[in-house]
Amino acid sequence: MNDDLWSFLIAMLSRFDIDAKETFNYEKFRTLCVRLFDVDEVEQDEWRVREIFELFDANADGVLNDEELLSCCKWIHTIVNPVHVLLVIDVQNDFIDGTLALRKCGLGQEGLEVVEPINRLLKEGNWDKVIYTQDWHPENHISFFENLAMRKLHPKSKITKEMAKPFDTVVFLQPHITQALWPRHCVKNTWGAELHKDLLILPSSERVYKGQDPDKESYSAFAEKDAKGLSELEKILSTVGVTLLYACGLTYDICVKETCLDGLRLGYPVAVINDCCRSVKPDDTTTKSYIENGALVACSDRILSLVNEGKHSLVMAHHAAKITS
Ligand SMILES: [Zn+2]
Repeated sequence: MNDDLWSFLIAMLSRFDIDAKETFNYEKFRTLCVRLFDVDEVEQDEWRVREIFELFDANADGVLNDEELLSCCKWIHTIVNPVHVLLVIDVQNDFIDGTLALRKCGLGQEGLEVVEPINRLLKEGNWDKVIYTQDWHPENHISFFENLAMRKLHPKSKITKEMAKPFDTVVFLQPHITQALWPRHCVKNTWGAELHKDLLILPSSERVYKGQDPDKESYSAFAEKDAKGLSELEKILSTVGVTLLYACGLTYDICVKETCLDGLRLGYPVAVINDCCRSVKPDDTTTKSYIENGALVACSDRILSLVNEGKHSLVMAHHAAKITS
C-alpha cells in the first residue's frame, strides 16, 4: 500500500480513536461502529455489524488486513461525507383531489396530508439536491381504464374487456404485460398532472417525468431508460454524487415503493420517510418489503437528525457496504 493510502487509513481510523497498527478484528470493528452509529442501533441490530465486517473480511480469517481495511475506510469516508438527495414523488393534483384521489381508493387515505410534513422536510433539511417526480402520461396511456378499447387483451387474461372495472388487473396481448387499470390520471400538461399548489418548490431542484411511453407503466422513477440503459434520475444522481437517497410522497405502496426498490437494486442506500407518504390500498406487506430489501423506514424527525446533525444510519450504511466491499 502506498504512503498516501496508508495516511488516509490512519487518519480515518484515528478520528474514531482506533490505532491502525493494531490487529483489526471484529471487536475493534464493533467499537468503531458504536462510535460511528447510535449505540442502541448497534446493540439492536448487531447482526448487521457482523455482516458488514464479514463483507470487508474477504479472506474470512477474522482480521482485516491492510487491503481489507482500506475498503472499510473508504466505506467510512462515504458515511462521514454524505451527499443527501430527497425525492418528492408524485405529489400531484390527480392523486390528491382529482380522478385518482386517494380518499376514493381502497384505504381512503388523504393525499393532502403529505404536503405539510414534506414542506417541513424541504424547509428544515440540508439537502444537497431535491428532485420532484411527476407521473406524466400521454392521452393513450396503457394504464387508463378509459383506453381499454385501444388494445387487445391476451386470451389468458382472466378479466375480459366486458367484465373489466377500474382498479382491475388485465393481461394485454401486445405488449404482453399484466397491467392494473387506473382511472385516467396525470395526463401531461393538464391540471391533474401539476404538483399540488401548496407544495414548496425549491429553486435549485430538478424534475423527473415518468410514464411517458404510451405502452409502458412506470411506477418507478428509475423506469424510463435511454439507449444506454440509464434513466434521467440516475444521470442527475450521478452528477450530484449522491451517497444517500431519501424518498417521500405518493404513494407508499406503489410509486414510492417501486422507486425505492429500484434504487436499492441499483446500489443506493435508501430511506423512506413514512410520515410523509400515503397509500392507495390496504397492504400490510409494504413495510416488510422495504425492510427486507434493505431500506431504512423512518419518520421525518429521525431523517432530519441524519441530514442536519451528522448522525448516521446503520441500516443505510449496511446497504452501502454491500456496494463498497
Ligand atoms: Zn400513472
